[in-house]
Amino acid sequence: MPANMTALRKTQAGKGLHVEKIQVPSIGPTEVLVRVKATSICGTDLHIYGWDRWSQGRIKPPVTLGHEFCGIVEQVGEEVSALKAGDRVSAEMHLNCGHCHQCRLGQAHICQNLRIIGIDLDGAFAEFVKIPATNIWKLDPAIPEHYAAILDPLGNAVHTVLAGTIAGQTVLVTGCGPIGLMSIAVAKACGSSTVFATETNPHRRELAQEMGANYVLNPATEDPVKKILEATGGTGVDVLLEMSGNPLAIQQGFRALRAGGRASLLGIPTENVPLDLVQDVIFKGATVQGIYGRRMYETWVQMTALLKAGRVNLEPLFGERIELENFEAAFAKLQNGLAGKILMYPNGIHK
Ligand code: NAD
Ligand code: ZN
Repeated sequence: MPANMTALRKTQAGKGLHVEKIQVPSIGPTEVLVRVKATSICGTDLHIYGWDRWSQGRIKPPVTLGHEFCGIVEQVGEEVSALKAGDRVSAEMHLNCGHCHQCRLGQAHICQNLRIIGIDLDGAFAEFVKIPATNIWKLDPAIPEHYAAILDPLGNAVHTVLAGTIAGQTVLVTGCGPIGLMSIAVAKACGSSTVFATETNPHRRELAQEMGANYVLNPATEDPVKKILEATGGTGVDVLLEMSGNPLAIQQGFRALRAGGRASLLGIPTENVPLDLVQDVIFKGATVQGIYGRRMYETWVQMTALLKAGRVNLEPLFGERIELENFEAAFAKLQNGLAGKILMYPNGIHK
């Protein structure tokens, strides 16, 4: 076991990230040390790289980033009995407190004292990561490594899609970033009849097609609401899955929703969004729900079942595979919306 390891970190307040040598974390009695195999870059990591307003308020450097990953258990604490060295794992990186009101109600994903590994605590862009045993997700052998590295955002998609009826439903996905794209695949796998997708980026519109969307619309050149109403005989869609955080997309989504429909909002706007509550929510009798994280651990069970059944094809999403040291080019590519998911291998690609 080495004393030191390589990690990709936010070392100081300001733009950028740095590869550093730091100590391998030591674990407590209820923790697990995982040797990271593959890790994936999330939109949040891009925000932290760019040091936007949210990052400035939240991130306390120095901290190792990375919350999407899979790996192999290296060591377990003395009180950990359900896991052993050699187990293939991923993890829920949202840590809940276990004693607040929501935790007591079985709503740990919206815990009042939520902390996130890779944001508030050292994460998985490193050779090793330390995680409480309770948060480890043992991987089914049927789940391949590249899928295992992106269970966190896939869980966001599964949580959103399965937050209401989906079989036989017409669905609109607004925003085809990685999570919107995954949502298209999950909605189709779960029996949605027709999936409409809106996206301004041409590369991502192509991916939306590959993921199985029936109609892919560009809101910059056509009126998606008009198109959707035409295609649904004037009714609108049963389900809106909002995956962009863009105010215009959110407004269009609500207008395209049928009366009595469900709007599930995952995208995070950076400003307040004006909505016509009377026409688009109240008179419609719409059900509107905020979606945060993944349900612990219902979402993980559902996601595993879907992947095991071979129902969700995410292959079009995967781009390059790189070593940690080559992160700059990957971050730039993702920033420009030119890639789906780029995987990084802190212990080397071929090990
Ligand atoms: P992303 O930024 O890669 O995807 C957003 C997509 O929306 C982009 O492809 C963008 O081109 C597209 N878009 C922008 N304006 C649009 C418009 N007017 N119409 C249609 N599409 C438009 O993000 P992601 O990683 O896929 O995540 C999706 C959203 O979910 C983000 O807002 C992210 O911050 C948020 N998020 C929320 C949670 C949660 O727990 N609630 C978790 C992870 C991510
Ligand atoms: Zn709590």
